[in-house]
This record gives sequence, structure tokens and C-alpha cells, in this order.
Amino acid sequence: MKKTQRVFSASSSVPLGLCVKLLLLLLGLSTASAQTKPTKPGSHSTRVRPSMSAESKDLLEDAIGVVCTQAKLDPKSSIAIDEMQARPSLPVTSPDARAGAERAQRLLPVAKSLVISSLRQLTTEYGFQKSPKFTVKLRIAIARVSEVRRVRPDMEARDNASVYLSRPHVITFGTIFLAGLRSDEGMISVLAHELMHVADGDNDSLRPLVAAVGNKASDLIGLDIHGQRSEEITCDLIGAMAVRAYILSTQDYESIARRLARSVQHNCVELDEGDEDHLSPRNTIRAILALNPGLVRELINDRF
Ligand SMILES: [Zn+2]
Repeated sequence: MKKTQRVFSASSSVPLGLCVKLLLLLLGLSTASAQTKPTKPGSHSTRVRPSMSAESKDLLEDAIGVVCTQAKLDPKSSIAIDEMQARPSLPVTSPDARAGAERAQRLLPVAKSLVISSLRQLTTEYGFQKSPKFTVKLRIAIARVSEVRRVRPDMEARDNASVYLSRPHVITFGTIFLAGLRSDEGMISVLAHELMHVADGDNDSLRPLVAAVGNKASDLIGLDIHGQRSEEITCDLIGAMAVRAYILSTQDYESIARRLARSVQHNCVELDEGDEDHLSPRNTIRAILALNPGLVRELINDRF
């Protein structure tokens, strides 16, 4: 699939905002045709398909309950993205947007470093550290993340955050989104999501890892998570991993469960719709927790 097509449809039809990875190709730079490697979803495979026991599924649903209950109890919870969407646009100069922009800019350096360590961890978990070819791509991806310098608040972007790959050192952040993420954890999660898009770059250079994450999520929760959906879920997973590492390094009086919940809480929507490129928000939480059972344990064990 050509990314250019995906961009133009996504920018007008993403039902729940959040993130659009925009690829603005320079004149004469046609990477799209180079990306159309055929995949064979039905090809013979000897990989063992992971699955979840009934007990694990129950625990996962309980953990989602903790996340979305905390959304109502926690004064710093992230606003659900369907609620953000319903809000009027917010000027860049409004106090909440300014506070959000300052929070995002302040946390950008820590988010970059957390994304780099989470990406290395994920690479090892999925066995790609043994591949010299992937190791080179990872090094270049990390260099791209290191180059991100700035968060740009944008009233028109409303409840979206975007990276224009023609300007990969800037994360564009809608002011409604900036104001709706009311904690450091919520903000780091979304910054890390965008930084993972930057890491993947305009050539999908981390595609083998992203595809492996998508395949595993598909097997675990029984939904179609391929193509762009696998990239989005990998970005969300890196976001949750980054927040978990942040919490472990900055423990305070708040419960770990409450803080962890903020990493995925913006997905606690009433109107649960997805599209071709994104799982629905509640299925996004489901996929992230299925991929990272440690989060389920921590959400459940530390809920009080
Ligand atoms: Zn995204």
C-alpha cells in the first residue's frame, strides 16, 4: 500500500483522532513503490502461534476495568479521545494548551531516552538483536529519534498528534490533545508513540519488528492487526513500555496502577470505533495489555 494514499484518507477519516503519521514526499523522491513488498499472509509458517488462556483473558478484562475506572477517579486522568473530539478547538494561547505544550516540551528529552531503551528491549524480546541487518537499521532509527527537538502546538490539529516525515525533528500536537493529557505519564505515552513513528521512518525500516508485534497481537486477541495497524499498535506498546520505565524511575506516593493506567487511558471511550489503520480504542488497550502481561499484573495487584 502506498503511504501517500494512506495519508490523505487517514487525515480526513480517522474517527478518533489521536495520531496520523504524515509522509510528505519530496519531489522526485518516490519511496512508495519500493515499499510494496508482497506479503503472504497465508504462506506456510512453522511459527508457534501464541494464545491466551481463559484465565489470562479474564485478568486482562479486569485490568481494562482498572484503567477505565481510574479514568473517572484520578484527577490527572487523560480525557477519552471521543470526549476530546467533541470539544471546541482550543487556542494555542489558552492556559490549558500552554500548560500541555510546556509539559510536552519538558518531557521530550526523557521520552526520547525511554523510547530508545524500550525499542532496544523490544528488539531483544522479539529476537532481532541477532540480525546484523536489523541492528544497523535500529542504530539509524535511534539516531532519528535523537534528532527530534521540538513540540509544536497546533490549534487546527485538535485532538491529533502528528509527525511530518519531511520535518522529522518536530512533533505537531493538537491543542485539545495537549490539554487532555493531564499527567506526565499520559504525555510520555503519546510522545513515545510519535517518536516510534520517527524511529520507523519513511521507509518502514523497522518493519520486521513491527510485523512481528502485529502478528503476536493478532494471535493473542483474535483481531486483524497487520499493515498500518501493526505500526500503530507497536507505537502504542512502546508508549506503554516507556511509561512503565518512567514510573519505576520516579516512584512517588501515587499508586503504580493509577500512574500506569494513564498510559492508555485516553482510549477509555464510549464510542468505540476503529478504521483500516487503527484498532478501536478499547481494542487498542486490549492489544497492548495482551502483548505486555506484566502491565496486567501491575494494574491488578496495585489497584488499591
Ligand atoms: Zn500513530
